[in-house]
Amino acid sequence: MAYRSHHCGELRLNDAGKTVHLSGWVHRVRELGGMTFIDLRDRYGITQLAFNEFWDAQLMKEAQQLGRETVLQAEGEVLERSSKNDQLPTGEVELRVTGFKVLSAAHVPPFTIEDATDGGDELRMKYRYLDIRRRPVRENLLLRNEVNLAVRNYLHEQGFTEVETPYLIKSTPEGARDFVVPSRMNPGEFYALPQSPQTFKQLLMVGGMDKYYQIVKCFRDEDLRADRQPEFTQIDCEMSFVDQEDILNTFEGLTRHLLHKIRGIELDAFPRLSYNDAMRRYGNDKPDIRFGMEFVEFDAELRGTEFKVFSEAELVVGIKLEGGAERSRKQLDALRDLVQQPQLGMSGLIWARHQTDGSFTSSVNKFFDEQALKNWGSAFESQAGDLMLILAGAKDKTRSALSALRMHLADELGLRKADEFAPLWVVDFPLLEWDEDSERFHAMHHPFTSPKEEDIALLGTDPGAVRANAYDLVLNGNEIGGGSIRIHDRSLQKKMFKHLGFTEEEAQAQFGFLMDAFQYGAPPHGGIAFGFDRLVALLGGQETIRDFIAFPKNNAGRDVMIDAPSAIDPTQLDELELKTTHDPSAD
Ligand code: ASP
Repeated sequence: MAYRSHHCGELRLNDAGKTVHLSGWVHRVRELGGMTFIDLRDRYGITQLAFNEFWDAQLMKEAQQLGRETVLQAEGEVLERSSKNDQLPTGEVELRVTGFKVLSAAHVPPFTIEDATDGGDELRMKYRYLDIRRRPVRENLLLRNEVNLAVRNYLHEQGFTEVETPYLIKSTPEGARDFVVPSRMNPGEFYALPQSPQTFKQLLMVGGMDKYYQIVKCFRDEDLRADRQPEFTQIDCEMSFVDQEDILNTFEGLTRHLLHKIRGIELDAFPRLSYNDAMRRYGNDKPDIRFGMEFVEFDAELRGTEFKVFSEAELVVGIKLEGGAERSRKQLDALRDLVQQPQLGMSGLIWARHQTDGSFTSSVNKFFDEQALKNWGSAFESQAGDLMLILAGAKDKTRSALSALRMHLADELGLRKADEFAPLWVVDFPLLEWDEDSERFHAMHHPFTSPKEEDIALLGTDPGAVRANAYDLVLNGNEIGGGSIRIHDRSLQKKMFKHLGFTEEEAQAQFGFLMDAFQYGAPPHGGIAFGFDRLVALLGGQETIRDFIAFPKNNAGRDVMIDAPSAIDPTQLDELELKTTHDPSAD
């Protein structure tokens, strides 16, 4: 008999009377007096198989022996069920089984194949193929496929061409750490896996491809951080003869298309915020704007002169928590503890209550009288019952601590709703960023990003103030895309490398191929790359990218299913002319 005439999510009442074949996994066996039921499961759904001692006592007995996850092929007649299950699309029917065959026996799985499983993270990763049988994981992968298809359709409609770029490329010290691959044919030499196809897509523009995209794996050997994957997927795009406005419009269009296709949501034009404004209003270059709690900065008058913590601080800034005046001392102490954690490093948290009777009180009543607190209230536009939370200190540190506090409160109050989508563009990023460790400027985006024309003159005098033609697309507090208009002029690119601390020889050795290409007629160009895994997760209403990757690595960068990375054979090492001084067995 054929493996199947229908899949397990297909049969309906109007199929009653048909003889059909189904194949799938035994999801559950239930014995009910003289009857036995098996839920047969496949990718498409679940269909109930029915056995009855009056129909065939022997067959029923055999069915009772079937273990969970056995792969089964069954033949039978579709019957209308007497007790229907409105939770299942197939719930109006069942199969009166006339015969079945075990296609593959199964051990008891190490965790239950249920929506809410009893398996822990590591176990599920080790047996990822079993985890994929679970509906939530399967649905995430199906969603990923939907998003992938919608991206391709949109970009294809817009005239983009997908071009594959190489995975074995040249290592460069800029950016994150490269994964390297030794070359057997060139002993002592290495390829690197691309952190992004950046230079290749620019060369495709020099090659006249005009509109390029690629859904592509990228590799970054970064230190462990929660929910980072060493290999991840980007939607990588580049366009010629465009300015920033063209790029923003094209990819706002893509994002709107995806939200419409996948979530049925229509969005207005995305707001745009300059980097400086984002930092000032939210203390963050990827603000979550689904909720308010915007920053209020204290001017000299609000700070007063007596309280040195305020009067001497580089920045005094606060947020208002509507209806928060009720919070107890203990709750306020917990918020203080949060900002005092070493990674945020604030020395304290000042609070002021706009009490329900209209009066004010604060943790610094000694220094500020009722009138001063009233002035704070005006600055915050507080109402009776609101709470003001204020931090003081060095500008950057204080902003990021207040941002962390803002996000913490929003999480606590359930203001970060997964089914609400609030995208925005953050534009006008600084071109350069001072790095304390190496005591030099680094490119904030990457060294191919162009400075704003009117700021080029500042490169020599005040490099930190130069703005870039760079932009990020932010969704619900996550950077989902980022890009820039590139430098397409050889001499400007050379100058840029010089400002980044490259000698002329270093720049030529590492990026000579790009600067050489610019000598042969390079069109003005720019592009963007989206983090595909994160985008899919957000469209799925979640934030953990690992759940949307078929075979992810764990937080230590390991694939625990295939056990990688692993030692390689000494003969392989010999062939590569690599010697190891590290003995893994000694770990
Ligand atoms: N290659 C850049 C990145 O991976 C994106 C871009 O500039 O297009 O962040």
